[in-house]
Amino acid sequence: MPAASPTGPALDLVVGRAEVLGGVPIARLLPRRPRRTVGAWCFLDLMGPTDVALAVGPHPHIGLQTVTWLLEGEVVHRDSLSVEQPIRPGQLNLMTAGHGVAHAEEGVGGPLRGAQLWVAQPEGTRHGPAAFEHHEDLPRAEVGTTAITVLVGEIAGAHSPARHDTPLVGAELRLRAGRTELPLDPSFEHAIAVLDGGVVAAGRAVDAGQLLHLGDGRSSVELSADQPAVALLIGGEPLGEGLAMWWNFVGRSRQELDEAGRAWEARSERFGAVASSLARVPVPAR
Ligand code: MN
Repeated sequence: MPAASPTGPALDLVVGRAEVLGGVPIARLLPRRPRRTVGAWCFLDLMGPTDVALAVGPHPHIGLQTVTWLLEGEVVHRDSLSVEQPIRPGQLNLMTAGHGVAHAEEGVGGPLRGAQLWVAQPEGTRHGPAAFEHHEDLPRAEVGTTAITVLVGEIAGAHSPARHDTPLVGAELRLRAGRTELPLDPSFEHAIAVLDGGVVAAGRAVDAGQLLHLGDGRSSVELSADQPAVALLIGGEPLGEGLAMWWNFVGRSRQELDEAGRAWEARSERFGAVASSLARVPVPAR
């Protein structure tokens, strides 16, 4: 019998691992063994709910895009491209790190709840320039009893203008009580993460703070809820590139990650400067 495929159709449920980031309680859903990625999505933290103001000082990234999505509250993003951009619920902040960027994230206080995700960049763009996009008016669609906002890619005929470097989808799903047959791209692998309430996806109950891998090859998934619920659907073509991840870096080798860490320690031009009153985050011990 062949070994189980990491992109097979199995339904694996992941319970968020509790951590604290920038003073805020988070539930880490990716990367987790054995399925570390969903398409190019390689990191997913659910933040809050909390009344603690998020305070993440300047820190570097390489080889990934950060996707910030809030359900409640406000966070100000400042980066080494001199962008200062508040983000509020229903808006998308998308930062592309490429060869190197640095940013700080500062909450304004009051209730905060949301998610931050990373998308691994492919070989073709990961050595390129950093970039930042803010989208306030994302496309929406209705399917069954679900209102969809498309963050990245396309679903149910609605296309997001946000940059993506590999075939990818990311969408917020707001479910009302009832049942929805949500169309999916069968060439993608998918997962659903529940942010609020409870959802039954493909026959499996998924609670807030949990992620269900849906595998690949599905042309749709059945979703239902008894009460209003909020979830994120993520998916994409299986990456096919072996990732190395450490701290805030995504690369292909340990050496590359170490090199990026040394560059941050040396205050290299590679990451630029961030106009933030918060303290610079040091490289963790390895
Ligand atoms: Mn960051």
